[in-house]
Amino acid sequence: MKRFLTALAIAAFSCSGARAGVDCAAPVDIAAPLGEVKPLERVTDYRLKMLESCTRDASKTSALAIRAMVVDGEELLLMVDPESLQTRLERAACWTCREAGPEAKDTRYLKAVEAFAASKGKKLPKNANYLENAGLTHGGDKGAFVTGDLCPSRKPLDRAFLQKLETQKHAPVSLSVTGAWVRHHHEDFTWLRREKAEGRLNILWVNHSFTHPFRPSLPYGENFLLTPGLDPEDEIADVERLLIANGETPSVFFRYPGLISDTAWASRLREAHLIPLGADSWLALTGKAPSPGGVILVHPNGNEPAGLALFDRLNQLGALPKPFRPLMEAP
Ligand SMILES: [Zn+2]
Repeated sequence: MKRFLTALAIAAFSCSGARAGVDCAAPVDIAAPLGEVKPLERVTDYRLKMLESCTRDASKTSALAIRAMVVDGEELLLMVDPESLQTRLERAACWTCREAGPEAKDTRYLKAVEAFAASKGKKLPKNANYLENAGLTHGGDKGAFVTGDLCPSRKPLDRAFLQKLETQKHAPVSLSVTGAWVRHHHEDFTWLRREKAEGRLNILWVNHSFTHPFRPSLPYGENFLLTPGLDPEDEIADVERLLIANGETPSVFFRYPGLISDTAWASRLREAHLIPLGADSWLALTGKAPSPGGVILVHPNGNEPAGLALFDRLNQLGALPKPFRPLMEAP
């Protein structure tokens, strides 16, 4: 209840317009020195389910706010450009917001949220109580989208794979991150942040759930995010909070662990205004190159070297569709 009331207070505050003494021209810069991983508790009063249409007092530029929060005592908003899908953090005090009207549904962003939430993915037997590979798997018919999952792992990050990507100038890579991976890989997380900050790796952060449960012995319908007893809101919100606490910005994409979901999870993503991200080619499983415009899935977390080796082989043979494109172009 307390959390709800605070969220209401933030909502009211975010509608109050610019406050004296706030420098609205300066971009939000959350102090997050490389080398130290800040806890997600730095980000408080996190409001997950909101959609507000906001204008900036001076410039009248508009955007959609999908999250509100407090970081180091300052109220912030996570905003989305409804056409480019680019996310950014903004100071709540610099914006005037109201609940988004029906016109927001006509934007490229919310059309994508709706379309991919409704996706059923792979065809399964009639009695299956889960969905597999629901969500975005293709974007047009050119190039490919490289995505790498950072599921919990005891092994180190495969930096060599990412360094090879770096040789292709500005090659974008989407990394689906879990809280459980960050917790045990502070140095690797810092390395990724440094590669990004210094312009070598063009990383888009995708939410891959906080705990990413997986028990090989369990059927899909009781496994991954369908594991009984999970708190779905924490699974979504805590990865976003962890990224923000460390000076990074979450994107509007969410990848289901194991690509396994159900209709309840589709509704949850829709309510959180996130786009589920599937895969056209999970290289280690399919063993073949994606079709043009396809989403490629590999695991740079050390758990699936076969997929990375196949990526390299196909890449050297010129068998991967080029160019590698930013994921935000796909929906
Ligand atoms: Zn995973």
